[in-house]
Amino acid sequence: MSNIYSEVITKVKEADGIVIGASNGLSISEGIHIFAENKDFIENFGDFREKYGFRSIIQGCFYPFPSEEEKWAFFSRMYDYFLYTGEASSVMKNLYKLVEDKDFFVVTSNIDDHFRQAGFPENRLFEIEGNCRNLQCINGCHDKIYSGDNVLSEMARKQENGKVPSDLVPECPECGGPMQVHLEVDRNFLKGEAWQASFKAYQDFIDKNQGKKLVLLELGVGARNQLIKAPFMDITNAEKNATYITLNKGELYIPEEIAAKSIGINGDTAEVLQQLVQLK
Ligand SMILES: [Zn+2]
Repeated sequence: MSNIYSEVITKVKEADGIVIGASNGLSISEGIHIFAENKDFIENFGDFREKYGFRSIIQGCFYPFPSEEEKWAFFSRMYDYFLYTGEASSVMKNLYKLVEDKDFFVVTSNIDDHFRQAGFPENRLFEIEGNCRNLQCINGCHDKIYSGDNVLSEMARKQENGKVPSDLVPECPECGGPMQVHLEVDRNFLKGEAWQASFKAYQDFIDKNQGKKLVLLELGVGARNQLIKAPFMDITNAEKNATYITLNKGELYIPEEIAAKSIGINGDTAEVLQQLVQLK
């Protein structure tokens, strides 16, 4: 195992650019599983489970709550749950240490905002499906994304019996209508100026590394993922100096065409990152 780790560290050190692609498996390695009805879910969201019958955080994100007060009780609780310690996990800190002195970019479908929490700057981050802390008009009457930190933390603190106080319910500053968290849970999700700018920054990063030593570091992305994995494999295939590094527990997939340019590590992401940082 240690040879493969040294190989990864060599590739990271030599890289002109590193693009990190991360999905649900990375969050799971931090102990956050949005698809699971586990002990953590029951402890933190058990009252919602009782009342509405949904069995995971992700089901809660799609649930048609009967009122704004009840909807915001859930979304502010989720915000609080994802970000409550106020400090990044050791997994995210190690990931940051691994790339901090390199030119890097992050593309992720994770909604927990843990990259920013760990120090990854916003202008090097493309959160494809939004995140738990930003708000938008539910009607998309205008294109602005708002920081929800203050109102979400206040609603998380002040909720009672599954409802937030009515005077805290956010309203669109333009049309006065309801707001929602900027998450891709429905067709209202704004892919306007802010989203497009992040998408372009991602594309620009790939473009500027054409022909260079680009490392595509993929963490916890499922074998059939089309948002992150498929483009990563295409780029690796097209770029002769690219290296595809995939970390996944139990679900490694490297197609034959790019096998010579790829390194796969089947192991616990938290432990692998710890080992890599120690070797660096
Ligand atoms: Zn509006």
